[in-house]
Amino acid sequence: MQENTLSPEDQYTLTELLYKIQLKTNNFMGYPVSKDFDFTELIPFLNYPMNNLGDPFVDSTYGVDSREMEKEVIEFFATLFRAEKDNWWGYVTNGGSEGNLYGLYLARELHPKGMVYCSESTHYSVQKNIHLLNMTNIVISAQENGEINYQDLEDTIRMNRHMPVIIMANIGTTMTEARDDISKIKDILKKMAIKNYYIHADGALSGSYSAFIEPRPAFDFADGADSIAISGHKFFGSPMPCGVVVVKKSNRDRIARSVAYIGSVDTTITGSRNGHSPLFLWYTLKKHGIDGLKKRAQHSLAIAQYAERKLKEIGIAAWRNPNTITVNFPAPSSAIRKKWQLASENAISHIICMPNVQKEQIDQLVLEMKADLVEV
Ligand SMILES: *Cc1c(COP(=O)(O)O)cnc(C)c1O
Repeated sequence: MQENTLSPEDQYTLTELLYKIQLKTNNFMGYPVSKDFDFTELIPFLNYPMNNLGDPFVDSTYGVDSREMEKEVIEFFATLFRAEKDNWWGYVTNGGSEGNLYGLYLARELHPKGMVYCSESTHYSVQKNIHLLNMTNIVISAQENGEINYQDLEDTIRMNRHMPVIIMANIGTTMTEARDDISKIKDILKKMAIKNYYIHADGALSGSYSAFIEPRPAFDFADGADSIAISGHKFFGSPMPCGVVVVKKSNRDRIARSVAYIGSVDTTITGSRNGHSPLFLWYTLKKHGIDGLKKRAQHSLAIAQYAERKLKEIGIAAWRNPNTITVNFPAPSSAIRKKWQLASENAISHIICMPNVQKEQIDQLVLEMKADLVEV
């Protein structure tokens, strides 16, 4: 065997994997990942060990990095999410979950005796992070559409009003894409004269495009959020999972710790950090621009509306939350769920009309679901 080349068997395995990935990517409507990207121009960067370890805003002795791009990406989102001028900070994470972990971490450092409130529709990773951080929490009931039950939230906070309040607001739940209203949550806190509180917005999918729609949902810093986390591989699209977290700089300063070895400040969660993902996000933002991103959001909303209508036309009880790209309906047969990779929970499935989804795919799915109905 020649050195540094794959054996024929390994070569075959690799080819098979590529074939499988290509096939599976084509029929894919159940998970919120965009596929309309072309990063060919960035391929040369894969030959370098890029690493943004430490704080993106503090230079490091490790210079094979994309900090410049990362800073631009954070600034873009700080502006989009209406952060207070000169009081924002953030970094490119490994995904929405890490951003949520970071928001909770900051909240705990600010309010070590705080109580975390989140609805029962909250993403599964949040419970794990609350556990990791050893925080106390109470799960609030959700309304039928997946949005937090504000009355239950108010009643529960009232019973624990001696404790600081930490809220994990869902800006688009995983199953039904319901958005908790941060201004309503603020009103509740105001009504009860709660002074010590922290609101984190989990905007994984919906928070990524909520700034592009009207009426603008109440989800960002101007609405009362103290930190916002989004995923980069969902609405924006990326070959590797990634995300962005934006927080108030004044809060981040409380946990900053200088580390001599990296010549930077250790303000992030992991040690080494992906140096490629900030570059991929930067490329996407530059290529689309605000107008392009708005168009992608509008396209998704239009397709979701189309899908809801088409499903209803064949007698399926499809529905979606206002201004969202997730269409919910009773779970179809397992063959259809498997083919289109549809997640399902409590006998409900959904399709997520990401920017790459076109009418043709909806028509195909509707056709198959119609045939399925006849069979039953
Ligand atoms: C996807 C999702 C997450 C997790 O984000 P990752 O980027 O997969 O880590 C968190 N919250 C919600 C509501 C999500 O939909």
